[in-house]
Amino acid sequence: MTNEELWQAALGEIELNLSKANFITWFKNTGILEKKDGQAIIGVPNGFSREWLANKYQKLILKALRNISPEVKEVNFTISSALTKSIDQQKRIKKDKIFLPEEQMGFDELETNKETNLNPKYTFDSFVVGPFNELAQAAARAVGENLGSLYNPLFIYGGVGLGKTHLLQSVGNDAYNNGKKKVKYTSSEKFSSELVSALREGKMEKFKDDYRKIDVLIIDDVQFLTGKEKTQEEFFHTFNALYQKNKQIIISSDRPPKAIATLEERLRSRFEGGMIADISYPEYETRLVILKKKMEDKKASLPNDILEYIATNIKKNIRELEGALNRVIAFTSLNSATPTIAQASKILSTIISPPKKMINYKNILKVVSEFYDLTANDLTTKCRKKEIVWPRQVVMYLMRDELKCSYPFIGEKLGGRDHTTVMYAYEKMSREIETNENLQQEVSLIKERMYN
Ligand code: ADP
Ligand code: MG
Repeated sequence: MTNEELWQAALGEIELNLSKANFITWFKNTGILEKKDGQAIIGVPNGFSREWLANKYQKLILKALRNISPEVKEVNFTISSALTKSIDQQKRIKKDKIFLPEEQMGFDELETNKETNLNPKYTFDSFVVGPFNELAQAAARAVGENLGSLYNPLFIYGGVGLGKTHLLQSVGNDAYNNGKKKVKYTSSEKFSSELVSALREGKMEKFKDDYRKIDVLIIDDVQFLTGKEKTQEEFFHTFNALYQKNKQIIISSDRPPKAIATLEERLRSRFEGGMIADISYPEYETRLVILKKKMEDKKASLPNDILEYIATNIKKNIRELEGALNRVIAFTSLNSATPTIAQASKILSTIISPPKKMINYKNILKVVSEFYDLTANDLTTKCRKKEIVWPRQVVMYLMRDELKCSYPFIGEKLGGRDHTTVMYAYEKMSREIETNENLQQEVSLIKERMYN
């Protein structure tokens, strides 16, 4: 394996552990300059990068390199201006040479249509259906065949990496290919930022016109509308204008409309006025089918026991399922041999059991307050308003359940409350969580954010 190939494979690994922006910032123009006596010398563009990489990412880099090439024992950094390839060029090399497919491709880099923001790779054909997403898929298909007349809006919700974007884009692509050229896919955040620039530049008329001309409007991740009042208002008007003209609106979110905090009531009732379908977690059999399909798409071939191993261990996220498959395929093509189960377990360890982030009660306060669109301060006061009491009880529950804090400690941190109050809240919550599915879902979303 050349240094270049080794570095590309390591970057694939490293990328999974960082946000995209961080990855690009710190790993652009880097490369292995030399590898000898167990030492890998990484070239970096400047002193600032060198310091940052050495302080923050040394371990991650070493681990990624060792996963692929165990003889590496040490990494060092040196400034080198020779490495001026952009990360895009690096990726292109990687794609051609060592076959690390979709894992690396952020959504925006793909061949997305600039007008519609649709990416042709997302189709119903490539979407595997199982009991966990059957309703959502059927609803999406039906809506695609009866635009504007069957269910309006269509609201799809489910956790991260479970296929919401894929499904929404599939409806859009179908509509587009069937001649509806005014399809627009956007995220609620993008909608919001477009609105802000339109306001700033005095181009509201154009903004409104553009949105009101659309035949099929697809808004992804609508939970991010929380707290943005101006955006919600504008969205409400856009929604109404399109709805009245029987134009189709399709929405996704990580939770059902009634669980989106500070969503204006009138928007909530609009969302609830159409069809709501959820996507839950895929069952084992479906996970296996998805893996097989993706493997065939990538023209790779892996033995069943490896696929079964992946399907057994990755349960809650199809993106991770795909990421795991890609890692195994990369290993296979680098080593010209399929990994054993033991090797697979090692290659996939960071996906299967990622090191649990250490958290403290402040992290819980932060995540819970953001989730319910409050401030951490709201939760630590005496205030007894209904919208605050509930989230505060969630904090109590999590502090006890996740951190094993004592009742008096929790009471003290949350507005000087008596330990019996906390105990009561904790017990009530524990009971309720057994039976209340919405609560289970909320708590699991919150935990996901706490630990990631
Ligand atoms: P979400 O928007 O819910 O976070 P995505 O739609 O981005 O999830 O899906 C994550 C990845 O998993 C994408 O690459 C997508 O193509 C793939 N995926 C999700 N659901 C399915 C499915 N049912 N069949 C095949 N691939 C899927
Ligand atoms: Mg998505």
